[in-house]
Amino acid sequence: MDPKQRQFSIWYMFIALWGLMLIQMFLPSFFNPTEIPYSEFKEAVAAGTVTEVSVSTHVIHGKMKDDKNFNTIRIEDPDLLRNLAQRQIKVTGVIESTLIRDLLSWIVPIALFFGVWWFLLRRMGQSQGFMTVGQSKAKIYMDKETKVTFADVAGVDEAKQELEEVIEFLKTPEKFSRLGGKIPKGILLVGPPGTGKTLLAKAVAGEASVPFFSISGSEFVEMFVGVGAARVRDLFEQAKGKAPCIIFIDELDALGKARGVGPMAHEEREQTLNQLLVEMDGFDSRVGVILMAATNRPEILDPALLRAGRFDRHVLVDRPDKPGRLAILKVHARNIILGNQADLETIAAMTPGFVGADLANLLNEAALLAVRRGKDTVGMAELQEAVERVVAGLEKRNRVLNKMEKERVAHHEVGHALVALAIPGMDAVHKISIIPRGIAALGYTMQLPTEDRFLMTYSELKNKIAVLLGGRAAEEVIYGEVSTGAQDDLRKATDIAKSMIKVYGMSEKLGQVSLERDRQPLFLQTMPSQTPADYSEQTSREIDCEIRELIDEQYARARGLIKTQEPLLRNAAQVLLGKETITGEELKALAASL
Ligand code: ADP
Ligand code: ZN
Repeated sequence: MDPKQRQFSIWYMFIALWGLMLIQMFLPSFFNPTEIPYSEFKEAVAAGTVTEVSVSTHVIHGKMKDDKNFNTIRIEDPDLLRNLAQRQIKVTGVIESTLIRDLLSWIVPIALFFGVWWFLLRRMGQSQGFMTVGQSKAKIYMDKETKVTFADVAGVDEAKQELEEVIEFLKTPEKFSRLGGKIPKGILLVGPPGTGKTLLAKAVAGEASVPFFSISGSEFVEMFVGVGAARVRDLFEQAKGKAPCIIFIDELDALGKARGVGPMAHEEREQTLNQLLVEMDGFDSRVGVILMAATNRPEILDPALLRAGRFDRHVLVDRPDKPGRLAILKVHARNIILGNQADLETIAAMTPGFVGADLANLLNEAALLAVRRGKDTVGMAELQEAVERVVAGLEKRNRVLNKMEKERVAHHEVGHALVALAIPGMDAVHKISIIPRGIAALGYTMQLPTEDRFLMTYSELKNKIAVLLGGRAAEEVIYGEVSTGAQDDLRKATDIAKSMIKVYGMSEKLGQVSLERDRQPLFLQTMPSQTPADYSEQTSREIDCEIRELIDEQYARARGLIKTQEPLLRNAAQVLLGKETITGEELKALAASL
């Protein structure tokens, strides 16, 4: 159940409870006779309209001539019996028993309540295509048929190839067990978020047409001590009953973090992790249960998880390259109607670094734009705009900058572009804009790499820093002082400089050493590593100096480049202020005309 649905069901519960309270309040008055004051009762007796009464300890129940029932509270009244006898009214005594009524008034609402609850849960379960196993709050999901196939997963051919064998095994476990072949028990899918790890695991289940059990590591963290371990036991129990099948643990790192690491060793997590290890050792993969897990931070996993017989097979699910992106775009384009001139290949070329989820999002975004514009098909214009949206966050035309701010932003952005143009071999400037995007960016300069890059040289990294600092340098050249608008640029430039010196050994003074442990390769990087420094204070100071020197040097360079092109800068900024966006081509033409 995702949080939204959970909230939904809580609302239902409230409504049900409220309904029950209403019933409790009004139901009795439907069936019970009218209540009358004792005095009225006495008058009725005197008038002879009462035909019979039954007297119990607290209540007198009776019937009028017109067959109306009534109740009245019994009051100590010595004359009552005499009066009744005088009128020859039939009198019976009753030993009071409200047991049945009490029981009914409790049991019926409770039964009703659980009935409604059960019904809702079941309905929700159905609509999700999942069967929630165990208690209602169980977080194990089972999908009898995932209906996802390898055709739905694109751009990860190597990973698919490695998983072929697993599918083969799940289809005919007998064959493998007969031949005694060794089948991996645990397969760890490693890669950045959104690259399709979950999708891939589902596809394996779909291809082999076996059930798919899934659970997320992060959900264990909030549980009470002991519950997580029980759930793991439960999960394996269920899965063994349905073998052959796949168990998928998403976000394994949340639960499999190295034990005893972190500010506070998390007892619950450790128990859960231990239980997982026990279960993994306890079953023989020949029963046909394959465990798959996904993580983007394999380096923080407890080493015990990675030992032989556990998650010993690792499959890299990396960001897709250009052909991969094209293939993914094609998969998702099945759901939308593309115009004739829509060229997915160009889009694939524009989107290095995008993962599958981004690409799916991009096409969705483009389709929405087309609908909004009342078009029948999704055209190139929508696709391109969608790329920009995904790249830079949503367009926010309604943010109002005053005229001076706008001018400054224009000069700033042109500054980036001019430095990029002036340095040979830099990524081509695609477009410059002063339309604010997202929360942070007041404008942007978009450079498009001509190809995917996996290696960068020393001078390329320095060039990148120079381009990042070009914005601030332009502000200084034009206005004589800088502004806060360069915050993000500075952060990025500092990050690059830091990596150059600490990770890639690019500092002459510090030498060819990597001063940062556990650093993922650049293309896998998601978060800065948090291991404490293991170098001296002296080195630390030198690092700071080196970073500073590198940045200063590039800033001076950017400033110099811009200073020599000041007329172009002023000119281009004016054009940009008028048009809000200019392309790289237009900027080049402007440069040529000056
Ligand atoms: P992960 O588990 O790696 O974070 P998901 O499998 O949850 O990523 O991917 C999210 C969504 O992005 C998928 O449901 C799918 O629509 C899309 N997607 C991601 N990778 C791919 C891919 N390689 N091919 C096709 N679609 C993909
Ligand atoms: Zn900038």
